[in-house]
Amino acid sequence: MGRCVICGTQGILLKLDNQGRCENCAQQVLRKDQEEEESFNYFYAGLLRVVKEIQGPVEIDKELTKAQESIPQFQEKIDKCNSLLNDVYND
Ligand SMILES: [Zn+2]
Repeated sequence: MGRCVICGTQGILLKLDNQGRCENCAQQVLRKDQEEEESFNYFYAGLLRVVKEIQGPVEIDKELTKAQESIPQFQEKIDKCNSLLNDVYND
């Protein structure tokens, strides 16, 4: 007699997969795995988008006084790097 390792359902005709799960529980686990994968892919795509923004070029004027106007763009990239590190290590 089979008995599902997750929900405990048992029966003579109960089909279990190779990990001892009934079809219902196996489906639920599969769905949860898919949701987690989608969630991870969404998170990862977001990280890649920020990395691309950070890697983007900063136009710097050859004239020194105008070149200084580019400094905030570097600060913005540093802020994005810090935010990225927070997202990666605090989630
Ligand atoms: Zn089950």
